[in-house]
Amino acid sequence: MDPENWRKKRIYTSEQMSLAKIVLQEVRDGRKLDRALRDHPLSDGGLLAKHMLVAAYRELIDSGAWEENPDFLASIRMKPVRTLSGVTTVTVLTKPYPCPGKCIFCPTENQMPKSYLKDEPGAARAFQNRFDPFEQVSSRITEYNAVGHPTDKIECLILGGTWSSYRRDYQEWFIRRCFDAMNGNEASPGEEPSDHASGAPDLKKLHAAQIINETTAHRNVGLVIETRPDEISADELVWLRQLGVTKVQMGAQSLNDRVLELNQRGHTAADTLHATTLLRAAGFKIVLHWMPNLLGATPASDRADFSRLWQEGYAPDEIKIYPTQLLESAELYQYWQRGEYTPYTTEELIQLVADLKTTIPRYCRVNRIIRDIPSIHV
Ligand code: SF4
Repeated sequence: MDPENWRKKRIYTSEQMSLAKIVLQEVRDGRKLDRALRDHPLSDGGLLAKHMLVAAYRELIDSGAWEENPDFLASIRMKPVRTLSGVTTVTVLTKPYPCPGKCIFCPTENQMPKSYLKDEPGAARAFQNRFDPFEQVSSRITEYNAVGHPTDKIECLILGGTWSSYRRDYQEWFIRRCFDAMNGNEASPGEEPSDHASGAPDLKKLHAAQIINETTAHRNVGLVIETRPDEISADELVWLRQLGVTKVQMGAQSLNDRVLELNQRGHTAADTLHATTLLRAAGFKIVLHWMPNLLGATPASDRADFSRLWQEGYAPDEIKIYPTQLLESAELYQYWQRGEYTPYTTEELIQLVADLKTTIPRYCRVNRIIRDIPSIHV
């Protein structure tokens, strides 16, 4: 939904607010939420949305009629699991920029960072906000507030191509503007660094924004970037630390050099091991992406490959399993058209992922087992 539409939907009628207050009172008195909602439909026959209940709850608090009750708020908000840990993830995308990778499975879309499609949920929000970091973060905080999620502890997840390939002055500016948004500080954004100027990053400004953030209402408790294993070096780690990065996502994709080469990843399994070793020694959290069903893989080779993650020292703290998806804008599509690539059947893939999940050690969190690409592209 574009920001304008979203704002329009958050202007509530008096009918919506009075019904919502009746529902809230009944729930507070012990009624089940879905029963109360069904018993108080809107005049057009529809049901009240959860964000309407949250808005009515806030009105009751602001007017002094009710006292703040976080447990009650948690019981009426949408997707409560999303922020159950107390930390709210705000995802933002960097602007379209060339990526050093040539991976054959990676989609390309005009006006988007490499590998992202305009209608993936997080990417759509970034596109609507013209990839402006301040707008992306502040609008997401507003949305979370409107649906009753906490926003006092924020993990900022920066996606979009390969972070390390962006100019460092852009990286510094991008993160600083995320902090400005969390700090509620719209003033003096400074120009977005031009791709053609030879500007140096101004870490003093970023560090000032970080210090302000230590006492604001929306504190940053985690900063995540995504990059390639062959971009990680001792120098890069110093830079990431200066930026305040706490967690690094990397595409391992496979630990088989033959498969990596066939898919033109441009790095080896040894690069991934080297990167994870450096990151771990420097105290960063590590998220690896791993892809079954790449060109040249079989269900049996994928099983063997996956076991190496835990037996050979990669040992990520978190993992995203991204089964290869055949997208028309990726070069792999032409391999498929020539009969040189065959996707696994749905049953083969489900069985494979189900088997692999049981082998993941308890210390590793599984973030995803499929990428959220709308099915019209696959
Ligand atoms: S490195 Fe990542 S973004 Fe770049 S081409 Fe490969 S998969 Fe796509």
